[in-house]
Amino acid sequence: MKRLIFLGPPGAGKGTQAKILSDTYQIPHISTGDILRAAVKQQTPLGQKAQDYMDRGELVPDNLILDLIKERLAQPDANQGWILDGFPRNVSQAAFLETLLTELDLAPDNVLNLEVPDDVLVERLLARKRKDDNEDTIRRRLEIYHKDTVPVISFYDNRDMLKVVKGHAPMESVTASLKKIIEQ
Ligand code: AMP
Repeated sequence: MKRLIFLGPPGAGKGTQAKILSDTYQIPHISTGDILRAAVKQQTPLGQKAQDYMDRGELVPDNLILDLIKERLAQPDANQGWILDGFPRNVSQAAFLETLLTELDLAPDNVLNLEVPDDVLVERLLARKRKDDNEDTIRRRLEIYHKDTVPVISFYDNRDMLKVVKGHAPMESVTASLKKIIEQ
């Protein structure tokens, strides 16, 4: 049973690493970004509400995200553990998750922070060519990351739960570093 939280800036490789480890440990990869992109594509009510925020590189309001993550963690496949990628994105989401997991009598096994310098991130994001990967939006997403998401790192560090992995390394060696921490 593994319950993992991935932190790190946009472009750090969270999604790539989460997919690999989801296969390795046979646990669902829960990416709020993927869930939101699917909702936008299908033009569900959630997708319609989220679209503008995503296109601008802003965070989608918490009231659209919190129920979504609560319901996702209640799905049967999440009994085996999970990897959260892209959530929590601010301190209020982290506090919500802490309360939810306490209610469920669960705790995360690892909170992993993938560290990558900003200039490398911009390069990687520009190469990715996703709809929200144009230069203005990238800059906005990095600003929001520093303002709203960096405090989440301290949230977990204050609880002695944080592990840092350098994400600016070949993909395989980042995977190996993550596994070493997870399996120790
Ligand atoms: P990501 O794929 O994680 O980079 O997310 C893409 C976009 O989806 C972000 O720029 C936000 O607009 C939105 N998003 C994803 N996860 C969250 C979250 N936990 N809270 C708010 N917005 C989110």
